[in-house]
Amino acid sequence: MPAFSSAQSRDINYHLHPYTNAVAHQKIGPRIIERGVGIYVYDEQGNKYLEAMAGLWSVAVGFGEPRLGEAAARQMRKLPYYHTFTHKSHAPSIELAEKLVGYTQGRMSRAFFTNSGSEANDTVVKLVWYYNNALGRAQKKKIIARQRGYHGVTVASASLTGLAANHRDFDLPLPQMKHTSCPHFYRQGRPGETEEDFATRMASDLEALILEEGPETVAAFIGEPVMGAGGVIIPPRTYWSKIQAVCRKYDLLIIADEVITGFGRLGTRFGSEAFGIEPDIMVLSKQITSSYQPLAAVLLSPEVTAVIADHSAALGTFGHGYTTSGHPVAAAVAIENLNIIDERGLVENAAATGAIMQAALLELAGHPLVGEVRGMGLIAGVELVADKESRRPFDPLGATGAAIYERAQENGLIVRGIQDTIAFCPPLIITPDQVADMVALFRKTLDEVHASMP
Ligand code: PLP
Repeated sequence: MPAFSSAQSRDINYHLHPYTNAVAHQKIGPRIIERGVGIYVYDEQGNKYLEAMAGLWSVAVGFGEPRLGEAAARQMRKLPYYHTFTHKSHAPSIELAEKLVGYTQGRMSRAFFTNSGSEANDTVVKLVWYYNNALGRAQKKKIIARQRGYHGVTVASASLTGLAANHRDFDLPLPQMKHTSCPHFYRQGRPGETEEDFATRMASDLEALILEEGPETVAAFIGEPVMGAGGVIIPPRTYWSKIQAVCRKYDLLIIADEVITGFGRLGTRFGSEAFGIEPDIMVLSKQITSSYQPLAAVLLSPEVTAVIADHSAALGTFGHGYTTSGHPVAAAVAIENLNIIDERGLVENAAATGAIMQAALLELAGHPLVGEVRGMGLIAGVELVADKESRRPFDPLGATGAAIYERAQENGLIVRGIQDTIAFCPPLIITPDQVADMVALFRKTLDEVHASMP
């Protein structure tokens, strides 16, 4: 039994952690992170870690950015809270809504604010239902997401998520949510199939599901431009254009969940731009405030906005909203954070330094543990395999990823093991030298774990 600090013991005694084995936690205890500077965080013992996941794919401007603290303090002093219900508003939420809509250059016309990505996707489900009720299409309510997609953990958003751990014993998914194939070419591609052929097959799978359910019952398709939590899955070439064509054919709304890909991650402001996606609804969070404050936004196209606005008039109100929708402190932090992203050219940095990161990780492709290196901009996944030639996964799946995660942490590197895919998603401020350090720490970790294998 390790000797726990007072803080660790109290954590074990009082705190039920998200995404944690609650019994194992009593033995392992928490690693308590005390402070952060740039791309590094420090634990309570003073150990330094290169945070190659930007927290949870989210700290764009790095840790300890003083301008965000100052923006929060200024707003706290001026107006720490006010709501946005019943025709009330305040300057930060107005400015942020204008800024977000402005980034889309006319594609979107309104922003609705929530506190988290899950709540934003929950809101999207309700909006899709409300929209179709407004249009008199009471049957058109099903939403298609993808296996391995991640959209959050509320009852509705967890139902959209396509991962077993989010459904099992939570009595989910809801019956209105359906899941189509995951566009993971390395794992799902057939021998001899090109990326384009595979994309065509993915679009046919979607069409078959729509026809099986009945197009008059299917309302929308939701997808992350690049899947994050499902294993950093980059869609094959032509995937999004083929998927969009199917959605348009059957009059499905297209929802781009840009919670990870928004604000530069792929080297473009939004992931939709990188793939030519023309969404009707966009979901933004995480890098919107660099997660210094909880905030998410749902952006709506002019057409969807008009239908919802008219329906709110018919019903007397739009009966949806959170006490802290568009919270002034969170909105003020978001505005400052987005200003920093623009002033420091962090979207461009994600493209330029991202290319360096992708090239450096690709140099590991020959490593005996590495099956595939994939990525785009400043997000990447390295999939580990038991046998490179046959792509045979490790058995049990996930044990090697967990070993890498642990060993990396001992080496001062925080990554994420998604089964046996190791994810990288560093802050957008990362420099080429820091990328080199990150990849060197990862290579050392791979070698050590490989050497320790029977
Ligand atoms: N959508 C995507 C693509 C995500 O990656 C996440 C979180 O990782 C969410 C939604 C849910 O966001 P939150 O954890 O803020 O509820």
